Amino acid sequence: PPALDQTNFPSLEKALKHFFGYDQFRLRQRQVIEDVLQNRDSLVVMPTGGGKSLCYQLPALLKIGVTLVVSPLIALMQDQVEALRDNGIAATFLNSSLSLTQLRQREAALLQGQIKLLYIAPERLLSDAFLPLLQRLAQTVGVAAFAIDEAHCVSDWGHDFRPEYRQLRFLRQQYPTVPMLALTATATERVREDIVEQLQLRHPALHITSFNRQNLYYEVQPKGRQAYAQLLALVQQHAGTGIIYCLSRRRVDEIALRLQQDGVAALPYHAGLSDAARQENQSRFIRDDVRVMVATVAFGMGINKPDVRFVVHYDLPRSLESYYQESGRAGRDGEAAHCTVFLGYGDIATVEFLIDRKPDPREQRIARQQLRQVIDYAESAVCRRQIQLAYFGEDFAGSCQNCDNCCSPPPLEDWTIEAQKFLSCVARCRERFGMTHIIDVLRGSRKRRLLELNHDQLSTYGIGKDHSLDDWRLLGRSLLHQRLVDETSDGYSVLKLNAASWQILRGQLAVQIAIPKPLSTAVGETS
Ligand code: ADP
Ligand code: ZN
Repeated sequence: PPALDQTNFPSLEKALKHFFGYDQFRLRQRQVIEDVLQNRDSLVVMPTGGGKSLCYQLPALLKIGVTLVVSPLIALMQDQVEALRDNGIAATFLNSSLSLTQLRQREAALLQGQIKLLYIAPERLLSDAFLPLLQRLAQTVGVAAFAIDEAHCVSDWGHDFRPEYRQLRFLRQQYPTVPMLALTATATERVREDIVEQLQLRHPALHITSFNRQNLYYEVQPKGRQAYAQLLALVQQHAGTGIIYCLSRRRVDEIALRLQQDGVAALPYHAGLSDAARQENQSRFIRDDVRVMVATVAFGMGINKPDVRFVVHYDLPRSLESYYQESGRAGRDGEAAHCTVFLGYGDIATVEFLIDRKPDPREQRIARQQLRQVIDYAESAVCRRQIQLAYFGEDFAGSCQNCDNCCSPPPLEDWTIEAQKFLSCVARCRERFGMTHIIDVLRGSRKRRLLELNHDQLSTYGIGKDHSLDDWRLLGRSLLHQRLVDETSDGYSVLKLNAASWQILRGQLAVQIAIPKPLSTAVGETS
């Protein structure tokens, strides 16, 4: 193996200072770097913004030969290489945007040993055009390491599966002595195991850091009837740049337009825009030309804007994993930032409807489970950070004092009587109907289907007129959340009584509901 040339850098700290100007390593960086210098395979799992890049960049500068960095996104590659070159570091990239002349120049520089870091997309790396060059590099200047960025792309359990990543195991077979470093911000156990297996890492060192992003404040706001006004108020209270995520392209366009009309410098970003328009909007956001990006989830991966001060999910996130990633784009500079989810009960129904229409039962099951977890998160009265970290298998005691539930615990009210009405209605409907129908019966609806079923004859018909639709939904969801009633889904959702439901019906168990703050206060507290 190539010898380590540390002569000019008696300590890693000095090298860090020399090349990057930083005084000390962040958590774990040093251990990862030592492992790479000793040619050990490693899996590095760090949250976004944790400082993964340095883990392969510094060793690349200290080792003999060139380090290949596999990265899925061309835009990201360009940015990283530019930033490195600005620091006087010999980095370059190869991708399809280059002219033939540029390609030849870069290849020549590589073969002359002038390049320490080469960024490349997986499909190019594995192409017939590149593999012979790699071979020559290995025989001449030497290959110091393979760094596989966004390594979760090898796993179909992750959120961004890219089949071409699976081919990367070829590198392990062809270059058994070159250490491989897999890096990702995706933390679930399943994905981790998949990475090790798919890339065939050899007894890898596991470097997994906490996913707690202490500088992010988490909150959930009930989405009121005037959701846009609520959003505008929030945007106006925040200083600095922010991202607003919406589920549909139509909504993105609509919100961006309304914000512009209300004097907020906002732009849309979604897959329906032309490449040029997306590129343009993105760079205007990065340059601070606009303050707010309204986007679908297509926006963000690989966008390195450290000073995003707030991220709002106007619609429910698809899963807790994606919520963590998307909200995690805030505050990458370590300064305080705000993450807000709008929880709309109508939105839940829409997502459920879409899930019910999915053709693949496996997909349906996964989507339902993910929706359930998101709702549990949003409705919970306990520390938000604790729920998120528990999702990643991390123990966190709670009481973070940096989320809405910690900073202003929701008041609890006794809703036992209402719960009894609700549950007896479930029983009267023979546990064959979903929440919407149960509430229709309670509120004495005249819907045709209800009348056809003769459910206007039930003893619970109309006994809940004294409460609004939203109240009943709040109760129903809270019962589900506290597991005081069950929900099964055979194509559509059906409420079922469980042991706890019967205890409530028998008057043996009281029901406490966390009452969401009135919208005015909820908005007022976000500044
Ligand atoms: P990741 O790839 O894990 O999302 P990056 O590698 O982009 O994170 O690093 C995030 C930010 O942290 C970058 O701006 C980087 O320059 C900075 N950074 C990394 N390591 C250190 C360090 N040891 N000291 C100070 N800043 C650091
Ligand atoms: Zn908390």
